[in-house]
Amino acid sequence: MSGHLAVVGIGPGDARWLTPEAQTALDAADALYGYGPYLDRVPARPGQSRHPSDNREEMRRAADALTHAAQGARVAVVSGGDPGVFAMAAAICEAIEAGPPAWRALDVTIVPGISAMLAVAACAGAPLGHDFCALSLSDNLKSWDIIERRLDAAADAGFVIAFYNPVSRARPWQLASAFERLRRHLPGATPVIFGRAVGRAEEAVTVTTLDVADATNADMATLVIVGSRATRVIARPGRPLVYTPRAATEASA
Ligand code: SAH
Repeated sequence: MSGHLAVVGIGPGDARWLTPEAQTALDAADALYGYGPYLDRVPARPGQSRHPSDNREEMRRAADALTHAAQGARVAVVSGGDPGVFAMAAAICEAIEAGPPAWRALDVTIVPGISAMLAVAACAGAPLGHDFCALSLSDNLKSWDIIERRLDAAADAGFVIAFYNPVSRARPWQLASAFERLRRHLPGATPVIFGRAVGRAEEAVTVTTLDVADATNADMATLVIVGSRATRVIARPGRPLVYTPRAATEASA
């Protein structure tokens, strides 16, 4: 088999949250591909080429990286957080499935990373301590109708919900609309966590409640966690501890 492609999760923040396996994969690569700001988080190494691309160019990036690997190179595609969570690993799989047979013969490795929801949850306590789901609020690749159906189902089923991609310049209204939708299902006192840029210098984690949650607190680097009926807040000096108990009862589900 010639050529190797690693899809590498570099975690949501600084190097503390980069795993030793991810570091090894980055060190071993002849070429790095990725969204520009993610590549910027990987120190340059002499002899290693770098191929930054724009956020929306995932399929193009996947094809370029696979083509390069098929020429016999060791290629690493860099993803923030975990590469399998709303990121490049699925794009690479889509490209391989639709692409030339040579791409199926490549040695492909997915190197996991700490996903933003896990990092934000750890900052806040244990909000994902019981059943939860993750939802991207981006309606670039699915319709808003699908998102609303999933919001209704998740809230009714008692899942804690982690929202990725809550807002962007092109999508200013989605998070406010999602909060509005959830208010139909969940009590106003349901805890809401805004985790912004966790693991980076500008990290900010705030805890509020669904009735007053203000979508303008979120930006592109924010992950939002909305609790379930069971999620609890322990007041204490400084930031409270938010957690979801390990056992569900009929009353809390
Ligand atoms: N693969 C990534 C997610 C990519 S989608 C992962 O596993 O984390 C991009 C979204 O992830 C952002 O819009 C934001 O919602 C979230 N995110 C990424 N890094 C973050 C960070 N440091 N702090 C908070 N949220 C983050």
